[in-house]
Amino acid sequence: MSTSFQLNERASEIRWSKGSCGVSGCADPECVCALCAQPIGISEDDPRWEGHDRESCGWCELCEDEVPIMLFRGEGKAMLQAAFHQKCFERLLAPGGAA
Ligand SMILES: [Zn+2]
Ligand SMILES: [Zn+2]
Ligand SMILES: [Zn+2]
Repeated sequence: MSTSFQLNERASEIRWSKGSCGVSGCADPECVCALCAQPIGISEDDPRWEGHDRESCGWCELCEDEVPIMLFRGEGKAMLQAAFHQKCFERLLAPGGAA
């Protein structure tokens, strides 16, 4: 994975985890956003999915939240990962950490 991006000082707030279960909207501490600690994605039975066709939807806020940005550090068994909402990850890249 390339590290061509530069994280700002908010990178110190990242909570690294050993890995998530991959279930959308999971509130487990290992699965939530590494920055804001909120679940990533929306669970399958959320009413907001009603009337939403993921196949035909190009990109909306619901779909965007489904796709976390992943960072990894370390190797092998010591590898840690961090998942972020797209918006949270942008805060790590913004100059000065501005939201
Ligand atoms: Zn989970
Ligand atoms: Zn977040
Ligand atoms: Zn959508």
